[in-house]
Amino acid sequence: MKNQAIFERAQLSIPGGVNSPVRAFKSVGGTPRFIARAEGAYIWDVEGTQYIDYLGSWGPAIVGHSHPEVVKAVQEAAANGLSFGAPTEAEVLLAEKISELLPSIEQVRLVSSGTEATMSAIRLARGFTNRRKIIKFEGCYHGHSDSLLVKAGSGLLTFGNPSSAGVPEEFVSHTIVLEYNNLDAVKQAFAEVGNDIACVIVEPVAGNMNLVKPKAGFLEGLRDVCTQYGALLIFDEVMTGFRAGPKGVQGLTGIKPDLTTLAKVIGGGMPVGAFGGRRDVMQCIAPLGAVYQAGTLSGNPVSVAAGLKTLEILCRPGFYEKLTATTSALVAGLREKAAKHGVTFSADSVGGMFGIYFRESVPTSFSEVQDSNVEAFKVFFHAMLEEGVHLAPSAFEAGFVSACHDEAVLARTFEAADKAFAKVAAM
Ligand code: PMP
Repeated sequence: MKNQAIFERAQLSIPGGVNSPVRAFKSVGGTPRFIARAEGAYIWDVEGTQYIDYLGSWGPAIVGHSHPEVVKAVQEAAANGLSFGAPTEAEVLLAEKISELLPSIEQVRLVSSGTEATMSAIRLARGFTNRRKIIKFEGCYHGHSDSLLVKAGSGLLTFGNPSSAGVPEEFVSHTIVLEYNNLDAVKQAFAEVGNDIACVIVEPVAGNMNLVKPKAGFLEGLRDVCTQYGALLIFDEVMTGFRAGPKGVQGLTGIKPDLTTLAKVIGGGMPVGAFGGRRDVMQCIAPLGAVYQAGTLSGNPVSVAAGLKTLEILCRPGFYEKLTATTSALVAGLREKAAKHGVTFSADSVGGMFGIYFRESVPTSFSEVQDSNVEAFKVFFHAMLEEGVHLAPSAFEAGFVSACHDEAVLARTFEAADKAFAKVAAM
């Protein structure tokens, strides 16, 4: 009742009652849980109900919620002042740590969100190359800046259409939207307008159309064609950075992007984003160069403290081995329960992120993701929630596992899934 009461009150003062749209349960229906606290693998709502959490704050909560060392680091930093608007040594330590872990990043600039990171990286790519056009892929999300809120047009080079009201067509007229995993389309676009393409931005493992992995050769092909035409390759690792593996997808594949965008994990639950990469490119940013970019709270000392401690924890021996094994065991267990109940289902994972799909096989593109049984997902989602398991409230989002998700947590998840798949089978 309290969740419902707060949701009703929230809708009076906040549009839709939420500060980010997917939180509103719009695509699954029902009442969002208003969260009171979180610890380890669990969240508790305002009614005191405990849930196993597979949202993980949409990625940041990789070491588990309220990790005592992270909380202590935040408290200590806060006691020294919340924000100075002047540089701190801790920012340098975080920049050095990011560069050490992701060697493609020779220099890095901290911002406060993933949206800022990608928006700034695109401006930088355009400023560096002195070109206008960018390529993005259908189903990849890179934050909500104007030129990235685009859906595919009707043909390859009919440029994308705005996917949000309030974005004039002219603002996206230089954004080319192509199918994920379709290298031929990329080559064709470059063949036609390659000398005006500033960059290709890609989620190297997509996590915003559920989880979609790159096909063999796709990312390598992007690297080659960008190099051939002098365009920059931007890996948007806001979600995958320190989540898909210790060195992001670039570490898993050995492919070196020119620029990388980060957020989520590097802030450990506090607002931090970053973009970085080749030194010659990064030197084009103000105050050194002509590409402007700034932020009152960029490199915020409390956020940086949370990020530094989080990176320290996930660099400890065995961290990713355990996280990856847990996540694989999770999807294997879910597949098994679905099969037991004869539900059409597939699942996949990389590092500490996973996708579940109510379709026969793992999807490779946005249109394949769309071709899944959304009604089945809704039933599954609500049945899991009733059993105390909080999944992402949409069939088109990835899920996240933390270091605190242990065997007992998985066992409880499988018990819940057994009942939830039974409900799906009875639909
Ligand atoms: N890029 C990717 C790959 C993301 O997953 C997100 C957020 N889900 C963003 C950019 C935007 O980040 P933020 O929400 O911090 O602005």
